Amino acid sequence: MRFAPSPTGHLHVGGARTALFNWLFARHHRGLFILRVEDTDAARNRPEYAQAIYDGLRWLGLDWDEGPDKGGPYEPYLQSRRAERHLQVARELLQRGLAYECFCQPRTADNVADGSSLASDDGDEENVGGANSFAPKTTLACTCAKLSAEERDAKREEISPALRLRVPKGADFVVEDLVRGTVTFPNDMVEDFVLVTGDGRTLYNLAAAVDDHDMAITHVIRGEEHLANTPKQQLIYEAMGWKAPRFAHIPIILNAQRRKLSKRDGATSLVEYQAMGYVPDAVVNFLALLGWSPGGNRELLSRKELVELFDLDRVVKHPAIFDTAKLGWLNKEYIKAAPVSDLAARVTAFIDADHRRTSAGADWKIIPSYVEKVAALLHDRVKTTTEVLELGSYFFTRGPIAPDPEAVAKYCTEPVAIDRLREVRECLARLEPFETHDVEQAIRQLAAAKGIKPSEYIHPLRVAVTGKSVSPGIFEVCSILGRDVVLQRIDALVAFLRAADATAKAGR
Ligand code: GLU
Repeated sequence: MRFAPSPTGHLHVGGARTALFNWLFARHHRGLFILRVEDTDAARNRPEYAQAIYDGLRWLGLDWDEGPDKGGPYEPYLQSRRAERHLQVARELLQRGLAYECFCQPRTADNVADGSSLASDDGDEENVGGANSFAPKTTLACTCAKLSAEERDAKREEISPALRLRVPKGADFVVEDLVRGTVTFPNDMVEDFVLVTGDGRTLYNLAAAVDDHDMAITHVIRGEEHLANTPKQQLIYEAMGWKAPRFAHIPIILNAQRRKLSKRDGATSLVEYQAMGYVPDAVVNFLALLGWSPGGNRELLSRKELVELFDLDRVVKHPAIFDTAKLGWLNKEYIKAAPVSDLAARVTAFIDADHRRTSAGADWKIIPSYVEKVAALLHDRVKTTTEVLELGSYFFTRGPIAPDPEAVAKYCTEPVAIDRLREVRECLARLEPFETHDVEQAIRQLAAAKGIKPSEYIHPLRVAVTGKSVSPGIFEVCSILGRDVVLQRIDALVAFLRAADATAKAGR
């Protein structure tokens, strides 16, 4: 099995899903999983995209088993390093009369080096699901196949020829696909295609077929946009007398409106999910369900279970729908199931990265035991790691917090609120120890002594400490923040309410 991405963009969720299906299939059948970077299109490749692919696969835990070096961890194969071998095969096909020289002006469609832009990625609904819609729509006008040896010699003086495969005429082409069944391409849909351009570049179908053969790939699992390339690659295997691998073309991924997933739907590249605080195991689980299911409505599956259950017979033909809500649900389940220390470690890593980015780290150090307490409090509530920083923003704010005006309007009506805040401040100022239980008991006793409900203290205290009208248990929040911060925040809210009151009076 192999994953053969072109490093011409960030690792897209679709690419990550292709990599995962290959990896799961390899692990399930105890085969080998190879990473081959198809970097033959010098104009469109960028090293940082190749790096993003390695980082993305490593983040997902999709390790590869082989490479050009000896002993792991392996470097990936780079297709560009194998150009001489691709040329050797093309020359052999020419010598055996199975390819011929073409002296026509190159056409764009002939020149795609890595196969990636042959993919139907324009979101055109007509292209969704129809096998033949991916086939070339033009017929070859080139007549170079008929040139005599003398004519070829003469033309070669002026122009260096491309090489085209001589595609047999007459019979239709059939792909026996492990997902889509028998797919037939009418004969005239596969023209004599270019193997090597006039300037000596070997193109995708040749390079992919030679590499898949040389790397002993038994199963090619890839996106359905490559289906139309498959008869061409099969023709190369046949011409060379090689056994072709089995092919499995996995379904396109669409958004909830059944249109191609685009930036408008949110994140489409893997790094964005990483940055939003998704957990790799949840993303793996989610990607596995894009076009495959174990049956029986099972959705929450560990990596081990996925490896045990995954096979191609349960991959569907119809488009897979990218359901962001499902990803959020899965991520929440994975966060809940993992120990609090995992969440705390992720949150700490986020804060560290953020500090490095904003160079704020020097004056504010995060104490691990503090993050651990916050993580424990929010563990069952958050969908992503970053939500800890959003929902619990008041735990990570150094200066005064801006109270939510609605919360103030609802729970801090004057003149009572200032009194309540001053009473609760006085009570907490002398409280020792300051654990959750102590804070709770002190506030309840205070309320009893004053003959009022504890909520009369709890609501304004919550606004003071969190700025919000809803939060996890306020006694616990107070004990995590510590007395100094709690008192400072009560003072700040009192000052804020006084100032607001003075402005209101002045306005009257
Ligand atoms: N390099 C091709 C792409 O990125 C992969 C084609 C294949 O898997 O054969 O789309």
